[in-house]
Amino acid sequence: MGVKVLKFGGSSVADGIQLTKIKNIIDADPDRRYIVVSAPGKRFDGDNKITDLLYMCRAQMQHNIPYEQLFQVITDRYSAVKYNLGIDVDLDRYYDEIRANLDNKCSEDYIASRGEYLSAILVAAYLGYDFVDTKGLILFDKRGRLLADETNEALKAELAKHERAVLPGFYGSDKETGEIRVLSRGGSDVTGSLVARAVNADIYENWTDVSGLLMADPRIVKDPEPIQTISYIELRELSYMGASVLHEDAVFPVRLANIPINIRNTNEPDDPGTIITTEHAPEGKKVLSGIAGNKDFTVIAMYKNMLNKEIGYVRRVLTILEDFDISFEHIPTGIDTVSVVISNEQLDGKLDDVLEALDRQMKPDDMSVHEDISLIAVVGLGMSRRPGTSAKICTALADEGINIRMLNQGSSEINIIIGVDTADFENAIRAIYNAFAEK
Ligand code: ADP
Ligand code: ASP
Ligand code: MG
Repeated sequence: MGVKVLKFGGSSVADGIQLTKIKNIIDADPDRRYIVVSAPGKRFDGDNKITDLLYMCRAQMQHNIPYEQLFQVITDRYSAVKYNLGIDVDLDRYYDEIRANLDNKCSEDYIASRGEYLSAILVAAYLGYDFVDTKGLILFDKRGRLLADETNEALKAELAKHERAVLPGFYGSDKETGEIRVLSRGGSDVTGSLVARAVNADIYENWTDVSGLLMADPRIVKDPEPIQTISYIELRELSYMGASVLHEDAVFPVRLANIPINIRNTNEPDDPGTIITTEHAPEGKKVLSGIAGNKDFTVIAMYKNMLNKEIGYVRRVLTILEDFDISFEHIPTGIDTVSVVISNEQLDGKLDDVLEALDRQMKPDDMSVHEDISLIAVVGLGMSRRPGTSAKICTALADEGINIRMLNQGSSEINIIIGVDTADFENAIRAIYNAFAEK
């Protein structure tokens, strides 16, 4: 018998109708043995994600505001699924346990993880699969960093005891204290990948609400072309830069074990979706695999006469950032200039202190800050050693009257990063897409 690992995202477990779809998908193939589930997501525009509601519960609890009404909205979602599908599971017992922990001032990670926990208990009972908790299996060190190899060993040993199981995504626990720790948002994709590696799956199927990875974000470009196959390395570039369909860290575990990922649509199960593997021959003359982007960056630009003669200048700039525990995205340099591009999330509340430190220690002749910068990544193995790609991008942007604030090509030549004003972000993505899409 083969083994397939499936991860179902928030919209795929949002209500009873979605659960019947996932049961049909699982029943259609006996190899579909290990199932990772997210917390229920939005059922319609304007609906709430359970994980967001759980974070709100904890915030209310911290401010001594009664959380019961909000908690009821959460439990109603699970109870409705239980009754609609006639699932035989005593949810009240779990609700009481969570309430008691909330009253005992549980950690934020604990409460955030309960969305996946309840989801997996419900889905396991519905499918007749074993429920396997990821507490004690997905392991973190005391700084909250995932212990990949120890996790792999723990998952492997436990799953060997279960022929078929449902596991909650998004969380694990501290290896020493056993306390619940969550991955970053969207982290159930990572759980699926860790499970796939541990059971040495033939394939990791990631089931979501789009028929695979599209060449651009469908919320920005209308009907972007689907991507049939793409390499791990291109996918990582795209997901890092905002193609939010798959968490950027979901690539590593399966890549180590050479397990292909197949992104599929729960609502269109016959669509083949996107296959992600190591072997990716750029099809025909297709230059570009995809475009993704992220808003909210700041550029700090320093100017100093004869800067290129000053040995160690850039290193000292980076040491200052390190002292503030800030990681940077890019450092475009010129003869007399050095700029650092940093995400606003990293700078959060530190900008003034960083500027003061740079001014005092680096003594630039001039320094300017540009907030509201967006980065766009144009990614494709097909770009490598093919002249003209940057020219095409620049022309497309110039034709739309969009000013390029930064242009950076990685030495691997599989990506070009473009910085634009955030006001131009969506138009820039559409302009680049239109220049490359095969119409
Ligand atoms: P899940 O809850 O199943 O994990 P997500 O909402 O995290 O699903 O990811 C799926 C969403 O990612 C899609 O609905 C789509 O709006 C968005 N998305 C952004 N960029 C892309 C892209 N390039 N291709 C496909 N989907 C994308
Ligand atoms: N439920 C978590 C979130 O909303 C994790 C996930 O869905 O992957 O981020
Ligand atoms: Mg997701």
